[in-house]
Amino acid sequence: MKRKIALRIANGHPWVYGNEIEKMVGENGKTVESQIDPGTIVDVHYFDNKYAGRGFYNHQSQIAVRIVSRNRDREDINAQFFHNRILKAWQYRQKLGYAENCRLIFGEADYLPGLIIDKFNDYFVIQSLSFGMDLWKNAIVEALQNIFSPKGIYERNDVPVRELEGMKQQKGFLSAPFDTNIIINENGVKFNVDIENGQKTGYFLDQQDNRRAINNIVKDADVLGAFTYTGTFEIHAAHYGAKSVYGIDISEQAVAQANKNAALNGLDSICKFEAMNAFDALKQWDKEEKLYDVVMLDPPAFTKSRESIDKAVIGYKEINLRGMKLIKDGGFLVTSSCTNLVSPELFLHTIESAARDAKKRIRQVTFKAQASDHPIIWGMENTNYLKFLIVEVTNR
Ligand code: SAH
Repeated sequence: MKRKIALRIANGHPWVYGNEIEKMVGENGKTVESQIDPGTIVDVHYFDNKYAGRGFYNHQSQIAVRIVSRNRDREDINAQFFHNRILKAWQYRQKLGYAENCRLIFGEADYLPGLIIDKFNDYFVIQSLSFGMDLWKNAIVEALQNIFSPKGIYERNDVPVRELEGMKQQKGFLSAPFDTNIIINENGVKFNVDIENGQKTGYFLDQQDNRRAINNIVKDADVLGAFTYTGTFEIHAAHYGAKSVYGIDISEQAVAQANKNAALNGLDSICKFEAMNAFDALKQWDKEEKLYDVVMLDPPAFTKSRESIDKAVIGYKEINLRGMKLIKDGGFLVTSSCTNLVSPELFLHTIESAARDAKKRIRQVTFKAQASDHPIIWGMENTNYLKFLIVEVTNR
């Protein structure tokens, strides 16, 4: 590695970019790196030759090396290694109180770069997003079989980011086939999860701790939810005693699933979901001067690149401003942002500026990140990605 990145790697960041590797030219005149097969495990050394660790190499990716082990004994990366790492990750989650559902492996934050595994009771959904990790898929599946004896394992590698690594998109069974419409239980509420066709891995586990945080503020409340997906926050609200809950999402499929979930919990007389564009709907209802006790917003990442952060912030401000205007004096706004490109500071600043323009005063009730089964690695800022905020909203 070049000298300049030593500190970043030493501080725990596991990625070495292609332009951070000191070029070595072989006898045939080609660089040594370009002749290493993608996914090969290579040793990584600092500029002074000190050993840094070993990792997956892939010259097709901008991220040339993803470090998997920093163990000084240069441990072997083999099937046993993956078994041990997965077992450790599971013990960590159990210690934190997760039992039925959790993100079992959160990639780099579990020292398994590019690997995502979600556990939905006896079912597992896998994404292997780095070339090296993908080569170990069989060992990973075997480890899951050995540790959990699951009812099913499914691969959701239908994600464009795989192409940046030189891999195809694909999805399908990694175990004997099973019914991919499953039911999970979260905080005492049941949800249908469509493992095969749902968004991402089928369900957003990263908000599972935060969904409990609305418990007290929704009692006897009229609640509006936007960007509801399958209605998780909204059905929690009804479960926690809301008087009425209305939810919207742009996806017809998500809305159908949300209504099904409300019925599954016997809460369909309280919760109604409809397919609508939230930007249009919030604007329209603001004109009509509709009012709610609680408004909940959980939009998708409005940006995936640094270039469009400003545009994303305009989007976040717009929906939060409209959302606040729909809140009765003394009501609450529950609002999130799931992109790491908008920092916690920038997010709070955006909410503050939305409040000012909406002529509202706000008081912070709760400000959190994602659930703790998605650990945050200091030194790797994109592991700190979710912002979850509850504020009390009063008229100026
Ligand atoms: N709150 C959900 C996750 C929401 S993900 C949960 O905890 O499970 C973001 C959702 O926003 C997706 O379901 C997506 O379909 C929806 N969405 C994206 N753009 C939208 C728009 N303009 N209007 C309404 N919904 C939108």
